Amino acid sequence: MFIVAAGLLFALGLLGACDRAQTQPQRDTRKKIWEDFSGDRALANVQTMVDFGPRPPGTEAIEKTRKFLTTQLEASGWKVERQVFFDETPRGKVEFVNLIATFAAKDSKPSFLVCSHYDTKTFDTARFVGANDGGSSTGALLELARVLAERPDLAGKVELVFFDGEEAYEAFTDTDGLFGSRYFAKRLAAESKTAQFRGGILFDMMGDRSLTITLPPDSPAELARDIFASAEALNVRKHFTYFDRDITDDHTPLNDAGIPTIDLIDFDYPPWHTPEDTMDKLSAESLRIVGAVTAYYLSEIALK
Ligand SMILES: [Zn+2]
Repeated sequence: MFIVAAGLLFALGLLGACDRAQTQPQRDTRKKIWEDFSGDRALANVQTMVDFGPRPPGTEAIEKTRKFLTTQLEASGWKVERQVFFDETPRGKVEFVNLIATFAAKDSKPSFLVCSHYDTKTFDTARFVGANDGGSSTGALLELARVLAERPDLAGKVELVFFDGEEAYEAFTDTDGLFGSRYFAKRLAAESKTAQFRGGILFDMMGDRSLTITLPPDSPAELARDIFASAEALNVRKHFTYFDRDITDDHTPLNDAGIPTIDLIDFDYPPWHTPEDTMDKLSAESLRIVGAVTAYYLSEIALK
């Protein structure tokens, strides 16, 4: 049916050739979504979240953040599930909510995860809004959702997960920090769904004006190679390197569960976990670079 219609359009185009390029819609599967990823939109998403104020788990601001994310995701065709759970923390029992977004595409089953945490670290005295830490990656993931939706064939293969409770109340231990990703990985295993995912990308701190994505040295080798290749293809390879130490982050429980997951994080960020982690440290271009590389990687390599 589609081929016949396309053939007819083509024949008509030959008859009146000159404006065919404008009138024939571009085929979805050819769309270069990495060119559509907007750093400005991603940055505006971050601004919205930062304007809600600090977003520690269980606060009104983090619930506002969830509503914002959900509304935006649904507007571009994603279905959002709230994965609610309680966990013991050094501050007592806390409610956490992961948001899991899947695309309403026919006959599709997600095989790849793209994730970010959206909570901010709890500070008793300082006002910490996490523009880069929790903000940048989430704003970029929301923009990625928008461009993926332009390619339903791709979007159907991706599950987007917004983790709550990445930050430790005191320090990372088996029971402090990574609350959302630990629970998510545990549920996948309990539901025998781990094997459904052959890989994952974690976004974290990626908005610094002076962008250097510092991949953890223990990153899955094939993923790292393909991310470098995607960066090379988009002429932004110089912004990607390896970190000199391992990094504990939300990719850790996923890797432990057997889903090879890479952490796209810029750990060379002096305002990290200080009140200085504010919007003025970020640039739209940095968000665009990481977003475009990820979109290219998904479209041209991982899910081709
Ligand atoms: Zn942090």
